[in-house]
Amino acid sequence: MDRDIQRRLYGVFTGEEGGPPLADLSDALLAWQKESWPALEAGSSSLKAARVREIRSGGMNVQVQFNPQRIVSMGAAVDAESIRRRPCFLCPGNLPPEQRAILYRGEYLVLCNPAPIFPGHLTIVHRRHLPQALPEHLGIFLKLAKDFGPRMNVFYNGPRCGASAPDHLHFHAAPAGLMPVEKEVLFPGRRAMVARRNSVTLSRTAGLGRAALVIEAEDEADVAAAVGEVLRALGRLTEAEGEPMINLLCTHTGPEWRLIIFPRHKHRPDAYFREGEGKLLVSPGAVDMGGLLITSREEDFRVLNPELVRGIFREVAFGDAEIDALLDSL
Ligand SMILES: [Zn+2]
Repeated sequence: MDRDIQRRLYGVFTGEEGGPPLADLSDALLAWQKESWPALEAGSSSLKAARVREIRSGGMNVQVQFNPQRIVSMGAAVDAESIRRRPCFLCPGNLPPEQRAILYRGEYLVLCNPAPIFPGHLTIVHRRHLPQALPEHLGIFLKLAKDFGPRMNVFYNGPRCGASAPDHLHFHAAPAGLMPVEKEVLFPGRRAMVARRNSVTLSRTAGLGRAALVIEAEDEADVAAAVGEVLRALGRLTEAEGEPMINLLCTHTGPEWRLIIFPRHKHRPDAYFREGEGKLLVSPGAVDMGGLLITSREEDFRVLNPELVRGIFREVAFGDAEIDALLDSL
């Protein structure tokens, strides 16, 4: 095993019967890292002090979090040239010296996120420097959600719509139920069933200000096939070069997987790039699509209102009519 990984090992999860559950191992890692890594303790305390306010309008219900430590990620340049020039902050050799990891199924490292959006926010990074991509790694993403179990939500940001390290394959995990959309998709009035095939139920949301597809299924192969079908249809519809733009949330509820897929038009709204008045430093990823908008500057936290939020969603995400078009093309 690489020395960089060996010296960071806190625990190992192999998936064998009788071993400690992944969520318990991760809890232990978090508790231990808060004691052993001052930056994580500082990041967790900063999150506890973060202000949150609600914005409700019609069926849209979002929370805005003021989290100054996210400025590094939200302000990050993610163009190919900037990425090529900087050292990769997710490569095992470049992690902070205090950071420890759980080796997950021999391939990934479960790490505590030192600039958390949620209490117990984890980043799961591949041990090697591979590009961020979903289709070829969907299997392990689904396994990860099942291994974490119903307490956790696992999420993915596409390389061009939210990933701050598009050059290094990674997922996130956080306690389930902290993003508004996770509860909203359970309300019958907020979603409609579209199709049922094999073990898969496909639904769509409605009236949330941005649209999502919901896939629920007990069989892993069925889930993978359904996600693959959605990605291919989205690729055709948006004429995407490479992976179509999506954010993905996933929880294994016990009997089944529940995935919430947000198709995207673009990563950052125009207001992100404005100078002076009218600038909004919002850089939406899976969490923002999930209904928790992250702001790192107080002026953005204060100024966001229903019209601005609806405008951002309209610009970067699919609306209900566009989801109809996507469903027609499936
Ligand atoms: Zn890397």
